[in-house]
Amino acid sequence: MRRLRRAKIVATLGPASSDRATIAKLFQAGADVFRINMSHTAHDKMRELVATIRSVEKEFARPIGILVDLQGPKLRLGTFAGGSAMLAKGGTFTLDNDKTAGDQTRVYLPHPEILEATEPGQTLLLDDGKVRLTTVETSHNKIVTRVEVGGKLSDRKGISLPETTIPFSALADKDRSDLEAALVEGIDWIALSFIQRPEDIAEAKKITRGRALIMAKIEKPQAVTRLAEILDATDALMVARGDLGVELPLERVPGIQKQITRAARRAGKPVVVATQMLESMITSPVPTRAEVSDVATAIFEGADAVMLSAESAAGQYPEEAVSMMNRIAEEVEGDPTYRSIIMAQRDAPEATGADAIADAARQIAETLDLPAIVCWTFSGSTALRVARERSQSSVIAISPNLSTGRRLSLVWGVHCVVALDARDQDDMVERACRTAFKEGFAKAGQRIIIVAGVPLGTPGATNMARIAFVGGETANDT
Ligand code: PGA
Ligand code: MN
Repeated sequence: MRRLRRAKIVATLGPASSDRATIAKLFQAGADVFRINMSHTAHDKMRELVATIRSVEKEFARPIGILVDLQGPKLRLGTFAGGSAMLAKGGTFTLDNDKTAGDQTRVYLPHPEILEATEPGQTLLLDDGKVRLTTVETSHNKIVTRVEVGGKLSDRKGISLPETTIPFSALADKDRSDLEAALVEGIDWIALSFIQRPEDIAEAKKITRGRALIMAKIEKPQAVTRLAEILDATDALMVARGDLGVELPLERVPGIQKQITRAARRAGKPVVVATQMLESMITSPVPTRAEVSDVATAIFEGADAVMLSAESAAGQYPEEAVSMMNRIAEEVEGDPTYRSIIMAQRDAPEATGADAIADAARQIAETLDLPAIVCWTFSGSTALRVARERSQSSVIAISPNLSTGRRLSLVWGVHCVVALDARDQDDMVERACRTAFKEGFAKAGQRIIIVAGVPLGTPGATNMARIAFVGGETANDT
């Protein structure tokens, strides 16, 4: 089974998509990676979902990626007497360290680190930005604010501080326990929410120790400011437009999306565009024109993947949402303008052997109009550098590592096949040709290009490219 598009689809699982039959249908409709959101999933449920996905993977004999998304340090207010309070515009409202129930003048703030970090003149957003406060006076036991936009606040509403860097770790206690539980299940990707600094990624990497790759969700202005360093530290990025649009003016989100997708492509690290892509499909079988255009924009940007959240997790049309994304990606990638738009954003190779070979392989494939570039890859790093070229030829990655195959299911254009390592160079060439043929990427008599690091199994040592004829079941060198 092969996809007829390069961009990948991430589908979030939830109450609308927890049973095996639905997960299998979502895979068949086009989902390449499944996301489990730990904000809404208990450990038992997470384990059950992982087991179900692995059983679907076995049935279809194609590697499937699992992305576990950690909630992160979501900051919340305390409670109110009677459950809520109405804040009047222009009034004064205090957040303090007094644990008693709040009212329209004050509320408990269970985060001493916020009291320490805020300074006068900063903005506080409550309940996804519905209520807005400006700090007037701050001290270690309270923050006195002016109500800029009033409204009703209820118990434990979220609070964001777009202008304050709070020295907390991106991993709360809940995240650490969720992370450990997910690693035990052998999941492939971990998404970190609300990161602010590259140190947040380093902290998670100390725990994962290579057992899963890290995706940094860019959803705070502090992370946008330090994007280059964060990109350096992480394995992948997510443009988390939901919270980004709360913490920053909405009109800044499209430009930031472009900055993030470009930076990730330059670095050769996967980037996912997320949130509200087909939002209206939560309740409608067809999306709006604007939503179709939004998905198309991400595909034209060369994003590695587009993501569904509530559409597949809790909506009425999860399967339709996946197949809609699949159709949009196929159509955009076949559009006559697509190649030139993608090429315009291609960056020069870095001065490494791997990039020189990846760039050369793409050029040879273009010159000879070869249908496929096959790379032998142990850790996936060769495949990532070849994917970075955004080549017109298909990219097949052959790896002896099932976990590499699963991780690469997120990556633009990579069709991964898990197989035993080659015995020698002849075996490598012959099996590359047979795989390209069998998987439907090349016909008998066509040539392909093979990229590898020899001797095989030496990570980061891409040093060879070879052209070979596909002979159906056998292969011959040219
Ligand atoms: P969330 O992250 O769905 O976990 O909030 C994505 C986003 O904020 O866009
Ligand atoms: Mn978010």
